[in-house]
Amino acid sequence: MLFRLVFLSAGIFGLAHAQTADLIVRNARIYTVDSRTPTASAIAVRGGKIAAVGDDLNAFEGAATKVIDAKGATIIPGLIDSHGHVTGLGASLEMLDLRGATSEAEIAGKVKAAAAKAAPGEWILGRGWDQNLWTTKQFPTAASITDAAPKNPVALTRIDGHASWVNRAAIDAADVNAGTKDPDGGRVMRDGGGRPAGVFIDTAQELVRRKVPPPSPEQVLRQISRALAECARLGLTSVHDAGVTEAEITAYHALQQQGKMPVKVYAMLSNSPALVDKWLARGPELGEFFTVRSIKVYADGALGSRGAALLAPYADEKGSTGLVITGQAAIQAVAVKAAARGFQVNTHAIGDRGNRETLDAYAAALKGPNDKRFRVEHAQMIAPEDFAKFQKFSIIASMQPTHATSDMGWAADRLGPERVKGAYAWQTLMKLGVHLASGSDFPVELANPIDGFYAAVTRQDKQGKPAGGWYPEQRLSREEALRSWTLEGAYAAFEENSKGSLAPGKAADFVMLSNDIMTVPEAEILRTKVTMTVVDGKIVHQE
Ligand SMILES: [Zn+2]
Repeated sequence: MLFRLVFLSAGIFGLAHAQTADLIVRNARIYTVDSRTPTASAIAVRGGKIAAVGDDLNAFEGAATKVIDAKGATIIPGLIDSHGHVTGLGASLEMLDLRGATSEAEIAGKVKAAAAKAAPGEWILGRGWDQNLWTTKQFPTAASITDAAPKNPVALTRIDGHASWVNRAAIDAADVNAGTKDPDGGRVMRDGGGRPAGVFIDTAQELVRRKVPPPSPEQVLRQISRALAECARLGLTSVHDAGVTEAEITAYHALQQQGKMPVKVYAMLSNSPALVDKWLARGPELGEFFTVRSIKVYADGALGSRGAALLAPYADEKGSTGLVITGQAAIQAVAVKAAARGFQVNTHAIGDRGNRETLDAYAAALKGPNDKRFRVEHAQMIAPEDFAKFQKFSIIASMQPTHATSDMGWAADRLGPERVKGAYAWQTLMKLGVHLASGSDFPVELANPIDGFYAAVTRQDKQGKPAGGWYPEQRLSREEALRSWTLEGAYAAFEENSKGSLAPGKAADFVMLSNDIMTVPEAEILRTKVTMTVVDGKIVHQE
């Protein structure tokens, strides 16, 4: 008896010693997104990987184990944003934030403070103003921000991105005057004498924007760093960067080398021939924190500005069917080369024509079921006869639930009552067995994945309108939504064996939340805070 006891405790000791965890989080409500063990209360981490998920993990606790009592908080796998623009998010974080400003004077004050810190001639950029919040409700003029920053060009983008408010120095830099014609698809607001008054609309914004110097390598690196820190704060542990340049890749390599990436990045190459040819020749780069194995192509434009390519004219602009940026033949040429060299192709397609040309190009390159995992980014509006092509050619739909709730006020105006039924049609795709990965398209939409989760399960705005949700039959269940932000995002990057769910052997990427988003009332979802973000077992954000 005594011998057995000694033997037994030595056995337990040996077991515990071999399996001692670096970190154990217990007393949590864990949703694993792993069908074998869907829920648990504790998770153990060793060497950056998950050692165990279960209810009694005492055997993993050793003297050096850090133990966190979650006090009943919810834990989900690290969230994956399958479509964002990392440098764009960083740049927007560096701009003056003008959202919510209630007067022109308030904004001029912010510009004046920024000018006091800027070098002469340095551009001052901002975004988020909305004249509907001012008592005047009128577009502003250049005067107030010219007084505020006489020596610095200023360009402030409206909240919807469709207008820029600029000062005199910016107008002079752009060399726009009474003799300058409005460009196609744009308008320069003018004073009584025909001179630019200070607001440039839609494509006219380019007249000014092209004068803003491109960011230096140091700025690119800083913007990526800021954006990744923001992602970690929001509970994102991986992001798919939807179109990177050579300069951005250089910055990522530097950050990776210095161990300064809090969040993992799956990069899509911008479709410039020189960049793509170089990478096709060298092959994919597969790193834990930075991977390059996909190419981003633009089939068409966006719906809001009527740039999305449609098969039939816009319901609210009869003469227009939008704009094809990369047509079927050109997409097919990229697709054939990419498939041969182990690269995925991810094509932005918004309108039903953009989607059809993309799907048919993919079909010609892929020929049938396959494991190339080509993606349609946005897949926003699809003709009824085209849905099945996703399933037939194993194509992933990479969609952004907040686009639906941002666009629902006017999408039916653009498309009419019939075509809108094929728009933001998440369930139509899911029912065909199509892989659906969710994202935000930050900074076009807010990067917060909690907002996206709410949009996916409600199809309502933040005030809960419309009641019952917009085309509610397309809503995702909470389980489907969580899966689309975790395991499906991993699948869309060929990473489902190493991340996307909480299971032994996978990366210890997880997030602690202040609310149980799987059970709280819908309105409560929006009040959820990310209290801890863990990447490879390291806490990269905590509050
Ligand atoms: Zn995008």
